[in-house]
Amino acid sequence: MKAVAYKEKGSFELEERPVPQLQDERDAIVRVTLSSICSSDLHIKDGFVPRAVPGVIVGHEMVGVVEKVGSEVKTVKPRDRVAVNVETFCGECFFCKRGFVNNCSDVHGGWALGCRIDGGQAEYVRVPYADNGLTKIPDSVTDRQAIFTGDILSTGYWGAKLGEIHHGDTVAVLGAGPTGLCTMMCARLFSPARIIAVDLDDQRLKLAKEQGWADVVLNPKTMEIEREIRELTEGRGADVVMEAAGGEDTFQTAWKIARPNAIVVIVAMYENPQILPLPDMYGKNLTFKTGGVDASCCGEILSHIERGELDTTPLITHEYQLADAMEAYELFEQKKDGVMKVVLQP
Ligand SMILES: [Zn+2]
Ligand SMILES: [Zn+2]
Repeated sequence: MKAVAYKEKGSFELEERPVPQLQDERDAIVRVTLSSICSSDLHIKDGFVPRAVPGVIVGHEMVGVVEKVGSEVKTVKPRDRVAVNVETFCGECFFCKRGFVNNCSDVHGGWALGCRIDGGQAEYVRVPYADNGLTKIPDSVTDRQAIFTGDILSTGYWGAKLGEIHHGDTVAVLGAGPTGLCTMMCARLFSPARIIAVDLDDQRLKLAKEQGWADVVLNPKTMEIEREIRELTEGRGADVVMEAAGGEDTFQTAWKIARPNAIVVIVAMYENPQILPLPDMYGKNLTFKTGGVDASCCGEILSHIERGELDTTPLITHEYQLADAMEAYELFEQKKDGVMKVVLQP
């Protein structure tokens, strides 16, 4: 089968690989019907994910059809359409029992697919702990609607829950890339009064506004963000801040635009250490919650999609055949042609 593999720092290649086989009675083999390229794939390529194993097949956001299951798999069976969870988790350890599946203590717990074990930018993928790693897609939901369930939508949903958003709150989201936009969509489920999107890219802000994911859009290139947000909130600052940008100075912006006693959720993955200037924020009594999605709500997310409360299809700007994956990477990496998300069809 065709698959995209991480060769070494700086290099991905399309290769011919054997179809994966069951290795454990809790495994499933899934025939991939649609996968996507995520910015985390580029983090692997650029060497920012030390745990990524050279030679691994990349791809951790996909949907497909169950082909085979081990004898201990209970929740899915062959021919079921499924969304694949970015995270592998046992469901039984200390962390899993508390819903903190990102820290599952299994040897393959956490983000393993497409990083430490072969992932889904391929024709088939082996999913360990299939009862936890696969979620059935409702009949009325298409692959394109479900594709982001296990990764960026899970991240947005988890971030929005961590924010403890109350009815009537002002929520500021830094970053209007795919994850930031998913965070806005999920924040909306908690009925805030207003969602403010902040990004340097006017096209992305325009999409956020047009789709109704954000009510107010602000570009730091042309305005002073801290002042604008204060003006919108009677001088207080945002009730909840979601940092989904991961830029050079966005962490500083995140705490500055938060009102006293706000929750600041760090959804982004940074490439460099950040500074927490405690003397400057003393008395602001902020609560910080930091990143690493616990992707344990795929069923809830698919129900929201089924009811039409979440729709991420406008994020899909480009579609390629898996055979043309290198071309797709080139476009995604160079941010050509207004690309937001690229999907690959095996
Ligand atoms: Zn990802
Ligand atoms: Zn576990």
